[in-house]
This record gives sequence, structure tokens and C-alpha cells, in this order.
Amino acid sequence: MVGDENLVLIFTFVPYGTRYMTFKKYQKLSRETAIYPDLDKNFVYPTLGLAGETGEVVENIKKIIRDRNKLIDKKIKSELSKELGDVLWYLSQLATELNISLDEIAIENIKKLQSRKKRNVLHGKGDNR
Ligand SMILES: [Mg+2]
Repeated sequence: MVGDENLVLIFTFVPYGTRYMTFKKYQKLSRETAIYPDLDKNFVYPTLGLAGETGEVVENIKKIIRDRNKLIDKKIKSELSKELGDVLWYLSQLATELNISLDEIAIENIKKLQSRKKRNVLHGKGDNR
């Protein structure tokens, strides 16, 4: 179990290189591929893209249930992985537009979830449990 005090170290000091990817590196590299109107002043475009790509993941899962009896082979897994990558790309652009680092999002999210787990309130309702 990783304690909250170790989270910054894990997310910050993973070595850069071809074998490793960090949220920080991904956010920077993906931003270099971002082309859309009013870049750096447009949180709406990546929000719409995020919804669209999420819909593509959902559609693929629907078809796996409908046509494949929930069987996910190597090819389907690869296709899903690419769609999840598209979701990640738009999430990263939205975070960048909002001037939030993906590291910060990941750290705050896991801290919240670990706190809920520790307090045995993972089940339940509300964002501020
Ligand atoms: Mg896609």
C-alpha cells in the first residue's frame, strides 16, 4: 500500500525514456500534436472531443456485448486501447486548457480514493465523501 506521502515521488520521478511514460511527459508530448481553433483559449473543443471519444469506447463495448458475447481478443483489445488513448489525449488537452497538470489530477484522485478506502466509504454517494 502506498501512503499519501509517497505519491508525489511515484508520479514525479519515473525515469523518462522510450520504455517509460509519465503523465507529465505525455501531457507535454500530446500538446505538441494539438491543433484546434483558439488553442490555449478553448476548453470547449477538448471537452467535446473527450465526450466523443468516450462515446466511441462505449460504442465498442456495446458491440462486444452484442456481437461477441463479451469476448475480447487481442485485436479487439488493441482497438479498445487505441480508443482509450484518444480519450486520454482529449483529457490531457482539457487539463492543459484548464492549466491543470495530469500529475496533479492523478495524485488528487488517488489521494481521494485511498482516503475513502481507509475510511471504508468507497461505496456510497457524493464527491466529497
Ligand atoms: Mg477514436
